[in-house]
Amino acid sequence: MFDTKNLNSLSQIIKDEIDKVGNKIDTSAVGQVVSVSDGIATIYGLDEAMYGEMIAFPNDVYGMVLNIEEDSLGVAIFKSNTDIKEGDFCQRTRQVVSVPVGDGLLGRVINPLGEPIDGQGKIIFTERRPVESKAPSIINREKINEPLQTGIKAIDAMIPIGKGQRELIIGDRQTGKTAIAIDTIINQKDKNVICVYCGIGQKNSSIAQLVSRLKEYDAMKYTVVVNANASQEAPLQYLAPYSAVSIAEYWMYQGKDVLIVYDDLSKHAVAYRTLCLLLRRSPGREAYPGDIFYLHSRLLERACKVDKSLGGGSITALPIVETQAGDISAYIPTNIISITDGQLFLNSDLFANGQRPAIDSNLSVSRVGSAAQKKTMKFVASNLRMALANYREMLDFSRFGSDLDKATKDILTHGAVLLEILKQEQYKTLPLSKQVIDIFVAKEGLLDSIPPEKIHEVLKLLSSSLATHTPEIFVHIDRDDELSLKDQEIIKRTLNNIKLDIEKYSISE
Ligand code: ATP
Ligand code: MG
Repeated sequence: MFDTKNLNSLSQIIKDEIDKVGNKIDTSAVGQVVSVSDGIATIYGLDEAMYGEMIAFPNDVYGMVLNIEEDSLGVAIFKSNTDIKEGDFCQRTRQVVSVPVGDGLLGRVINPLGEPIDGQGKIIFTERRPVESKAPSIINREKINEPLQTGIKAIDAMIPIGKGQRELIIGDRQTGKTAIAIDTIINQKDKNVICVYCGIGQKNSSIAQLVSRLKEYDAMKYTVVVNANASQEAPLQYLAPYSAVSIAEYWMYQGKDVLIVYDDLSKHAVAYRTLCLLLRRSPGREAYPGDIFYLHSRLLERACKVDKSLGGGSITALPIVETQAGDISAYIPTNIISITDGQLFLNSDLFANGQRPAIDSNLSVSRVGSAAQKKTMKFVASNLRMALANYREMLDFSRFGSDLDKATKDILTHGAVLLEILKQEQYKTLPLSKQVIDIFVAKEGLLDSIPPEKIHEVLKLLSSSLATHTPEIFVHIDRDDELSLKDQEIIKRTLNNIKLDIEKYSISE
């Protein structure tokens, strides 16, 4: 039988032991896990832990403080399937979450904690930066006045992007959003722009394919890929863009130009929503937490062009947002549209009809980019948007009647030619000079007599003929930023000769 006297003394022994433990543990430095589920640990103790501080759990597992409550902490754990359990001890690190930065990251694929995930060994670095830091103040920001060439005709001509600008790429699923970002990265080759691609919630296979494409086009040597894929837990996906921008900031403050792509922020918002629901924060509109706007504004504010006192570098940001059935007035899209300096809207109907890149020139805008557009491009592309708008209007109108007068027919033909020259295949970015020449001949109406299916062939012939006989034209445009009357005449004459050749050829056929 059990002796109650013994039981009492047993409980006394336990109490004494607990008291002893209690005395030994300094609850400001050591905490204990009260509960853990879905990657969130509730911690008792660690009274002085800071928001965003790294917390060390046993077996090299780390977490980040995201909730500070009266007598507990909510910590997001950065690793899945850990064996952290109730009662485990954890410690403060007294450091906020940070990532390694520097040139050692170029060519590498890393996770949001800065650990390599490309199997190419350790990353060599000498410095770390906290993932959260204050954006430069208005006083330290400079006007955007230098173009960032995407190499894509439709963008560089109609919606030009400047270094330090934030331009949103928005569209439905599978409309070529990532393609635009990747082409822009590929086009930065030999242009002294460092690129950071941040994948959030993408499939691992898509990232692997993207990295191999970047390697193929020799773009990995100036690029870092930060990846938190779809199977990773919400805290890592939440952290990814902040890590990426910290990596970019290091170079910006050294006076370099950086391009950063966030692919995509819709998935980032969903990861944050998951995280907040797990942290038991109250949900707001569409179940997103109340600070979702702040989440993205504090991220995108960190992209800008800084003045000489801060090094004179820039971060150009291309955030990507996915819409549902083209609805740009949904919650997350409107938030991000209002934070950025313009948007490239990709239309799924245009994409399906073969107009690729599917940029909708009606709904796309760049609010600061035109100040940064090259003079020659401005000269040839000034009324391109207007001509396209005219064309669309006439097209709608012409559906009502069959008898069209010549003026209407001409507008329709010219518009179709303009749309045709703006078609551009993926991975085929063009230097400014070639874009200017293509748009110049189209704008002058010199291609209106050519059947649309032949236009790209003619443009190719024109380009190669100019490259053989008068290569200085490309130099004038690219380097000197001008298209003189003499050069215009040469281009027109060369094109005419090509057209005559084609006619002769088709007659003899
Ligand atoms: P998701 O919503 O899945 O992220 P997305 O909008 O990022 O898709 P992409 O993956 O960039 O779209 O492109 C979708 C498909 O369209 C790809 O197969 C891509 O190769 C093709 N594509 C994109 N741009 C072009 C283009 N300019 N010319 C031809 N094909 C293109
Ligand atoms: Mg994509």
